[in-house]
Amino acid sequence: MTEPLVSRMRAFGTTIFAEMSALAVQTGSINLGQGFPDSDGPAAMLDRAMDAIAGGGNQYPPGPGVPDLRQAVSAHRATHYGLVYDPNGEVLVTVGATEAIAASVLALCEPGDEVIAFEPYYDSYAASIALAGARLAGVTLRPVEGRFTFDPDELRAAVTPRTRAILVNSPHNPTGTVFTRDELAVIAELCQEHGIIAITDEVYEHLTFDGVEHIPLATFPGMRERTVMISSAGKTFSVTGWKTGWVCAPRPLVTAVQTVKQFLTFTASGPWQFAVAYGLRHEMGWVAAMRAGLQDKRDRLMKGLALAGFRVLKPAGTYFVQTDIRPLGFTDGLELTRKLPSLAGVVAIPTQVFYEHPERGAHFVRFAFCKQYEVIDEAVGRLKRLG
Ligand SMILES: *Cc1c(COP(=O)(O)O)cnc(C)c1O
Repeated sequence: MTEPLVSRMRAFGTTIFAEMSALAVQTGSINLGQGFPDSDGPAAMLDRAMDAIAGGGNQYPPGPGVPDLRQAVSAHRATHYGLVYDPNGEVLVTVGATEAIAASVLALCEPGDEVIAFEPYYDSYAASIALAGARLAGVTLRPVEGRFTFDPDELRAAVTPRTRAILVNSPHNPTGTVFTRDELAVIAELCQEHGIIAITDEVYEHLTFDGVEHIPLATFPGMRERTVMISSAGKTFSVTGWKTGWVCAPRPLVTAVQTVKQFLTFTASGPWQFAVAYGLRHEMGWVAAMRAGLQDKRDRLMKGLALAGFRVLKPAGTYFVQTDIRPLGFTDGLELTRKLPSLAGVVAIPTQVFYEHPERGAHFVRFAFCKQYEVIDEAVGRLKRLG
């Protein structure tokens, strides 16, 4: 049989996550590759999901999402950012941020349109853009004084008459960068000058450290009207399996995204929606405590990685820390991460898989610290073997 997969998806075969997770199981290694927490979300929120199932909340929710969740999302945006979105028409519940991103790109980009994204990027971006028949224009983030950032001139040069949208992920996976007000201002100015739509992936909005503040791009003058703001419950409440996300945007943009979304999944699962509404209203204190713990784990892992001989780039947010492997005598992160289980009993992800130009990220390796203290400490102990 000839290749059954459509040509536009052929570049997206098996992922490195599958390979590395299999390697972790095979070798009994500690898996700091995949970015999901190994402890549960707030207990009362979990109870709400069970209550919803026991109480008959098991049929199709309305297409835009359960009204209570749309109201809670709207209230949360207003409280935290001073952004006002009408729960009826400007908020759409999706199957995680992943569906929100895919539906937004499919709804807003014609074949041949260009979408700017910062590389390294979350892996679903390139696939969603390819599904739309659009073209990804990558702008590379590089370390400057220990944090990944972009060159404003490179960003300006990436804009063409075909540029339709820019995907902005801050706090940024996999670099841990939280864009500053100045960086966001450059993006905002370009969007307005060239009529570009911003699609923002803010799933780590509450996971920032050292008092660094997450600033939504939509809060910049003139940006609310052209921003599709996306977030989700998975990272905020440590329930990545719930796949409950949302889009906030002006009515015409939400209507466009919902038009596509209704034929992808029609609506998102019900029980989680009731529970996430509760979480947004009552569990932000739990989130603050979780964030403090996460910062502590970041510090422990960074210290261990530095002792093992990595050059460590301090993340201001997310679940991830980037390391430069060259001080260890390696130049290729793929080679090192394939050897790391036998060298040290730890699994990590080669950052190059998140690039359009893999050679630009060849010497970086990503470690996740959203794991229990014992797991971080055990990994740190094992990594000492490298030194
Ligand atoms: C985890 C993650 C997502 C996916 O979120 P879901 O709500 O699980 O779909 C999207 N973007 C980034 C950057 C992520 O790290």
